[in-house]
Amino acid sequence: MRFDIMTLFPDMVGNILGESIIGRAQKSGAVEINLYNIRDYSEDKHRRVDDTPYGGGKGMLMMAPPIYNCYSAILEKQKEAGFEPDNRRVIYMSPAGKVLNQRKAEELSRLDNIIILCGHYEGVDRRIVDEIVDEEISIGDFVLTGGEIPAAILVDCVSRLLPGVLSDPECYEKESISSGMLEYPQYTRPYEFHGVKVPDVLISGHHANIDKWRDESARELTERQRPDLLEK
Ligand code: SAM
Repeated sequence: MRFDIMTLFPDMVGNILGESIIGRAQKSGAVEINLYNIRDYSEDKHRRVDDTPYGGGKGMLMMAPPIYNCYSAILEKQKEAGFEPDNRRVIYMSPAGKVLNQRKAEELSRLDNIIILCGHYEGVDRRIVDEIVDEEISIGDFVLTGGEIPAAILVDCVSRLLPGVLSDPECYEKESISSGMLEYPQYTRPYEFHGVKVPDVLISGHHANIDKWRDESARELTERQRPDLLEK
């Protein structure tokens, strides 16, 4: 999977995705993440990328031409590299989009290329969204200062579903949300912590009992903390 991310702050995204599992996935080639600074595509001699909104109002809006130039350059670079996927999607990270969930992450993980636009300030000129964007995605019903953290979240949750990123698909198949329920509680060493011991069943070596305990615990936790998941 190839991600191409358009942003005014590439380091914000790159620093998050350069670490840990996604960092290693980039090194192994399981995921390719390219970052583009929209400012590099400004037509203005001062590299300006934003302006005041027509009709008045507070704050600055990102202008359409630098974003369009950046988008065109990405398509050109892909073509030069002989990469022309049929199933590419252009996503604008936006609080006005549909809220991201695991099902959406699974759907996106089947694409070959995702181009992400990160807004900043008051957002972007609507015309660029109407012209190049296939889908707007929000990471939740709250407003952040920019689309960089949402983009990193989207890339992270999609990438960990790709072959070669996690050691075993079981890592995500049984975990919270993917399985339709929250994950059962887990324990590691030490056996006793602040007077609390690991449940006996987990050290019994009886796998059928362990599975039963995990299923029951997952259901109890889901009923208590996310009953809406069971209703679904
Ligand atoms: N004026 C915009 C509005 O009311 O919809 C909000 C702009 S927000 C301050 C700046 C940028 O942050 C947005 O263009 C978007 O890229 C990003 N952003 C903010 N909250 C987000 C969220 N919940 N999910 C995804 N992106 C978000």
